[in-house]
Amino acid sequence: MYPWLKEQAQQLTRLIAQQQLGHALLLKGIDGLGKRELGRHLAQALLCQHTNIEAEVATLQATTAIPCGHCHACQLVLAGNHSDLHIIRTEQRSISVDTIRQLTQVLSESARLGHGKVAVIEQAEKMTEAAANALLKTLEEPAGQSSLLLISSQPERLLPTIRSRCQQWLLPVPDSSLVLGWLEEQGLAATGEQAILSALNVNQGSPLNTRDYLTAGTDQRRQQLLRQFAQLRQQPQLLTDIQAGLLEQAVHLLWLQLLLQDALQLALGLSSASLRLVDSESLCRGVSALGTAKLTQALGELVQLRRTLQTSTGRPVNAGLQLTQWLNDWLIN
Ligand SMILES: [Zn+2]
Repeated sequence: MYPWLKEQAQQLTRLIAQQQLGHALLLKGIDGLGKRELGRHLAQALLCQHTNIEAEVATLQATTAIPCGHCHACQLVLAGNHSDLHIIRTEQRSISVDTIRQLTQVLSESARLGHGKVAVIEQAEKMTEAAANALLKTLEEPAGQSSLLLISSQPERLLPTIRSRCQQWLLPVPDSSLVLGWLEEQGLAATGEQAILSALNVNQGSPLNTRDYLTAGTDQRRQQLLRQFAQLRQQPQLLTDIQAGLLEQAVHLLWLQLLLQDALQLALGLSSASLRLVDSESLCRGVSALGTAKLTQALGELVQLRRTLQTSTGRPVNAGLQLTQWLNDWLIN
């Protein structure tokens, strides 16, 4: 279990052992926290043969860790082979009503191993409205000993009726010092503390996304692009390269926004201790010389631009034109 999830995992498995966890749990938290792994762990705990004993006996055996990891049920879950565990996971854009109907049908049948059934729905916000409605009855009155685990990083996109029928559990964004140590253990120690902390901020505190971002070498691209941008007013011939670079990925405009936010913070005379791009202080300081009025305006327009592009129909021509306008404003004013 990831170190930042250990405490939450213990609390949740304790509730399972004490049979105090509701039959439907909604696990919420940002992308790249390890919610899927935690979901599997909880499913294993629910199915573990040591969980499924009378509450009185459970109290006597309170020292038995749950999930035990060695009973028949645990081994089947670990092998991905437990016939009473049903995991809905899709790379498609949505989870269809048919998928949910099949699931509710399976859940209504009796458990093969006699210890209840568990369904895990990953990225539950992908359920279509019809799919969500098909799940409501099962959420209200689960058949037999069924348990449902819904996992979502965008729970606000779930129907309110789904949310209200679940016990909701929010996984917090982990403390950066904890994640820093873990990332260093993942072979990233050579990256350096400041670069890791910046990368963590760029990835909104998400440990797994930060690991992938650093491993893929994406951070070099960020540093290159932001360095070019910081030189743009002195070297306008970089314009075409920068524009193309900023349009490569939606997140590249977020990088630029963080740079401007940090620069504005420095221009306002605030401490450099709370910079988000801690490894790019000299870049931010260079940009901050443009002054608060210029930075406030550019930042406001950039935030607006990002919002427009996120909700647009995705026509690249529009994005290009709007970004050109923004970059021209940046150059001339
Ligand atoms: Zn077990």
